[in-house]
Amino acid sequence: MTQNTSIAPMLTEAGDFLARDLAVVWHPCTQMREHRGELPLVPIRRGRGAWLEGLDGRRYLDAISSWWTNLFGHAHTAIAEAIGRQAAELEHVIYAGFAHEPGLRLAERLVALAPRQAGRAPLSRVFYGENGSAAIEIALKMSFHSHQNRGDGGRTRFVALENGYHGETLGALAVSDIPLFRRVYAPLLMEPLFAPSPDAFAAEPGEDAEACARRAAAALGALFERDGPTIAALILEPRVQCAGGMRMHHPAYVAEARRLCDAHGIQLIADEIAVGFGRTGTLFACEQAGVVPDFLCLSKGLTAGSLPLSAVLTTDAVFEAFWSEDRTRGFLHSHSYTGNPIACAAANATLDLFVARDVIADNRALAHRMAKAAAPFAGHPAVGDLRQAGMILALELVEDRATKRAYADHPRRRALAAYRAGLDAGAVLRPLGNVLYWMPPYCIGDEEIDVLHRATAAAIEAYVRCE
Ligand SMILES: *Cc1c(COP(=O)(O)O)cnc(C)c1O
Repeated sequence: MTQNTSIAPMLTEAGDFLARDLAVVWHPCTQMREHRGELPLVPIRRGRGAWLEGLDGRRYLDAISSWWTNLFGHAHTAIAEAIGRQAAELEHVIYAGFAHEPGLRLAERLVALAPRQAGRAPLSRVFYGENGSAAIEIALKMSFHSHQNRGDGGRTRFVALENGYHGETLGALAVSDIPLFRRVYAPLLMEPLFAPSPDAFAAEPGEDAEACARRAAAALGALFERDGPTIAALILEPRVQCAGGMRMHHPAYVAEARRLCDAHGIQLIADEIAVGFGRTGTLFACEQAGVVPDFLCLSKGLTAGSLPLSAVLTTDAVFEAFWSEDRTRGFLHSHSYTGNPIACAAANATLDLFVARDVIADNRALAHRMAKAAAPFAGHPAVGDLRQAGMILALELVEDRATKRAYADHPRRRALAAYRAGLDAGAVLRPLGNVLYWMPPYCIGDEEIDVLHRATAAAIEAYVRCE
């Protein structure tokens, strides 16, 4: 090997680093060719609080919590220490046939924190995965298999919502409805039934968010009337369809969906991978609808953005459907790193931070300050909608406010221009098409909110002016 492995030139020569990186690394969710031109690749050397620091020393406010994972800031001392301690004690052990304290403790705590619903059995069992998509696969397979084990073998289909997103593996992608990610793989995917999104942005004139949600729920009810006995589960992202452009809906939809699922013997899978752990103003978004799903999928914030881990919470009823003398009726699903102790320790340290102070109450005040900082944008001629659910705030950029029509020309170039303008103003704002959003870590203060405001103003101008 003649390759220079010294790290020193990397730190002084960001340009050299970029050339080396682009020569060997394939980055996720990226048309790599754009990195040769319009799209800057930003090498990061460290993170502190809500800030990332580039190899060249420039600082960027992580306004999107590094893909919605980070809760309490980067390189958080307590989480880093918990990871270090666990790594030095037991880094991993096969989780089939073996058990460990961090996994047990985390399961007990998640079950205790899970949403409650009067008159309904709580979520009482935890199955671990390694990432969000794995959690979705687990929930889909468990739902299908639980019906099979109960002798209800006709329930082989899933209902998903239009504009929903549940991950990139083939099962998770199949129940997603983002054409950019799904279309090319369509021939490989199982076909769910898609129900209309309750998205309040698509409300009809004169219709409020709740009426819009009830209209979508009525359509869901009609679909269940028609196909109910063939359906295993409904999967949805409660309150906010994040990858679908931070589209928000009234919690009445989730409450209605729960009621309709019960009426038709259909299970409810709540994907709180993005919205869980306080993002929408409550610890879990399902709380706002007062419902308990049959499956609650968690990841991203579960370790506060430090390590990959996911968890699927389910009920005794589902668990008991697999309880048998017959091995094949068990849930024979595993991932090599299922229940990884270091990741579980990071999750336990994360939950400790929720205990140390009233994060949800503090976030309420923070969300209010975000709302005030964003309020002036509501009057901007290119802002067709300003919406917020707790710590998620989004602006819909449009060419025509009256019809809420997006810019038809150069949508990609506009989004890139907005992204670059945000970076130049010191913030990572990674637009979802024509949607600019803030989903910052919970440690931001007034200085960071100022940066958010300035970077967003610059990004809007860049988006509009781009040609
Ligand atoms: C990110 C996300 C997923 C997929 O999680 P990965 O860890 O990226 O596989 C699933 N559902 C929702 C709602 C998400 O936001």
